[in-house]
Amino acid sequence: MMPNPLHYYRPDTITEARDLFEQLQRANQRPTYYGGGTEILTRSRLNDGDFDAVIDLKGIPELHVHEQDGSRLRFGSVLRLTELADRDLWPFLTATVDRIADHTTRGQITLGGNLFSTLPYKEALLPFLVSDSADLTVATPDGVKQRRLADVFDEELRLDPGDFLISVTVDGQEAKALAFKSFKMTRQDWIDYPLVTIGTARREDGSIRAAFSGWSSFPFTSSRVNKILSNTQKPPEERAREAVAAMPFHAVDDIHGSSEYRQFVTQYTLARMLKELEAQS
Ligand SMILES: Cc1cc2nc3c(=O)[nH]c(=O)nc-3n(C[C@H](O)[C@H](O)[C@H](O)COP(=O)(O)OP(=O)(O)OC[C@H]3O[C@@H](n4cnc5c(N)ncnc54)[C@H](O)[C@@H]3O)c2cc1C
Repeated sequence: MMPNPLHYYRPDTITEARDLFEQLQRANQRPTYYGGGTEILTRSRLNDGDFDAVIDLKGIPELHVHEQDGSRLRFGSVLRLTELADRDLWPFLTATVDRIADHTTRGQITLGGNLFSTLPYKEALLPFLVSDSADLTVATPDGVKQRRLADVFDEELRLDPGDFLISVTVDGQEAKALAFKSFKMTRQDWIDYPLVTIGTARREDGSIRAAFSGWSSFPFTSSRVNKILSNTQKPPEERAREAVAAMPFHAVDDIHGSSEYRQFVTQYTLARMLKELEAQS
């Protein structure tokens, strides 16, 4: 089967990209934004896309920003995962993205593409989910807007149709103060989709946060689970067992592992992470 032809556009500014999306819609085309293209091109080849035009965002300078901007760390949405790791502005983010795919593919996948992937994993989201200060800078018809990640995250990052991610920021002090562990457990190989990936962070007040990918069909963090993990009156093994029992969603059962196996792996991984995190202090 021949894939349907794709129209390709590469605007130079945020306004051009946002306007182009609307113009294409008015012309009865179905546009989508394009970061590294790894997912879009696969879907297009399989004729599995609800789009026939792509707007490549990589020509827009603001989306390449990668810096400490005043008190905030700012990560542009078209940065490749390899760029994030090489610069290592936020070691928690580096440790997480460095386990996504193989090195060559990480040189294609962009931060925005991972965060808005149609696959369930979106592992780059985990450090941002455990942070209190993560914000998104978003291109909208009314100009560039800041949104708190917590306000737009509901099983996935929900932007209005036609809006796109410019960058993600976190408070530099908060990021520096978080002791963290990032563990990815796969069925067999080092490089694979996760059975479960867990990002945990210990805050200055001693409380623990965890975010999970692979456990369900979307990444999540849970205040109930975090409360259990933070109760240092109990040993790590007991907290890990209680946390798994209190998960807000059922563990998925898929080709990577059964629901029971995921629960088992999550429990022992969490116990190990708690021990290592608490040994650091
Ligand atoms: C071999 C391979 C292994 C992989 N392994 C993993 C893994 O272990 N863990 C994991 O989490 N993922 C994994 N992935 C999935 C990968 O992270 C996603 O497919 C990701 O979408 C690819 O990024 P991209 O930049 O190529 O996205 P694209 O194909 O360009 O876009 C993907 C989606 O994101 C949207 N998008 C892109 N940029 C923006 C933006 N700035 N604003 C709003 N929407 C945007 C696009 O419209 C599209 O819907 C793997 C992918 C491959 C090919």
